[in-house]
Amino acid sequence: MARSSSDIVVVGAGIVGCAVAHELARRGASVQVVEQRAIGMGATHASAGILAPYIEAGTDETLLDLTVRSLGLFDNFIARVVAESGVPVPYHRTGTLQVALNDEEMLELRHAAARLEAEHVAASVLDAQAARTAEPHLSDAVVGALVVSTHGFTAAGDLTRALAAAACRHGARLIEASAVGRIVPKNGDLIVDTDRGAFIGGAVVLAAGSWSGQIEIVGVPARVPVRPVRGQLLRLAWRGSAVRRVTWRGRCYLVPWDDGTLLVGATVEDVGFEECTTVAGVRDLLEAACELVPQAWKAGFAGAYDGLRPKSADELPVIGASRVVPNLMYATGHYRNGILLAPLTAELVADAMLDGRMDPALAAISPQRFGDL
Ligand SMILES: Cc1cc2nc3c(=O)[nH]c(=O)nc-3n(C[C@H](O)[C@H](O)[C@H](O)COP(=O)(O)OP(=O)(O)OC[C@H]3O[C@@H](n4cnc5c(N)ncnc54)[C@H](O)[C@@H]3O)c2cc1C
Repeated sequence: MARSSSDIVVVGAGIVGCAVAHELARRGASVQVVEQRAIGMGATHASAGILAPYIEAGTDETLLDLTVRSLGLFDNFIARVVAESGVPVPYHRTGTLQVALNDEEMLELRHAAARLEAEHVAASVLDAQAARTAEPHLSDAVVGALVVSTHGFTAAGDLTRALAAAACRHGARLIEASAVGRIVPKNGDLIVDTDRGAFIGGAVVLAAGSWSGQIEIVGVPARVPVRPVRGQLLRLAWRGSAVRRVTWRGRCYLVPWDDGTLLVGATVEDVGFEECTTVAGVRDLLEAACELVPQAWKAGFAGAYDGLRPKSADELPVIGASRVVPNLMYATGHYRNGILLAPLTAELVADAMLDGRMDPALAAISPQRFGDL
């Protein structure tokens, strides 16, 4: 029955599984990645790829520490994976422009700026005129903006394909179109049962995103509490001079991609595992984008996408070894920041699995905060 064996089997080839597989293989482990669809076709394919800890983490100290630390790894992470894979990966650290269209929103930006100043993070508050100079496409209704210059964005799909290619160059094997049903501990190894045969690993990394709780782990009665939160986003065929950087207001953001399209994100919807775009989602995003940059009314419509963000019960990632099955490692629950957190996740997992090094950051994101996992 068993078809193939390796040191480590990674379940899921999203950004998290591919980053982990790459890091493990790069450090010399023999790795197999088992994916039910194709590389990056879960949440990752819908991701906006924004790298913005000082917006995303808000006042959550744990998430802020993790995301800032991971952002600090990004330059080397991208350079290494591009060099090792030969796959180009768009990556820009052009900052973010958060925009206020009324006084209440401006007050929030001033509070955010004060928090950043206290943490010695470079950020500047702009008045209406300076905001329009920074981004000429902004609506005349703009009253001000906040620039955080260290933020950026990358193309999540290209990055994930590059990670997979680089992992394969280090000897990893990628098996697509194979759905894992259960993981069975046997004689110190783990058997990973799929609908197309079984794989044996000395250890397993569970990186199945929103689906992580659906996989049975024999001997572990609890399931990791990760559930899907749908996000829809649009691509507009932009006409005229490009938007200069990630531009953000409330729940609407714009990302200027290298191919000339403008990405507009994103809805946040609690609809279970339903994967589709909707008329309401497209309308809401179009209205929000056009309110921010009226030129968007003249853009072409290049498509709508959706993905399921893997959200844990406390919205923090779940990274660490199982207490019940110690050679099982969880790497899931990255919710809105899986792209941003990919380099750090890969490092934490590889340090723990290959070197027995437990980073202090693991304490707050351990699976055991949710019980006997
Ligand atoms: C609209 C939207 C915008 C986003 N924007 C950003 C952003 O700007 N910045 C950012 O950092 N993050 C963003 N995110 C979040 C980010 O995309 C996710 O956190 C990240 O993609 C999660 O990666 P993952 O590998 O854990 O999950 P996924 O990409 O979902 O990968 C999990 C993989 O596991 C596979 N799998 C599941 N079950 C099985 C099984 N039983 N057997 C085999 N394989 C299985 C799936 O097919 C899938 O390919 C966004 C997400 C969405 C939806």
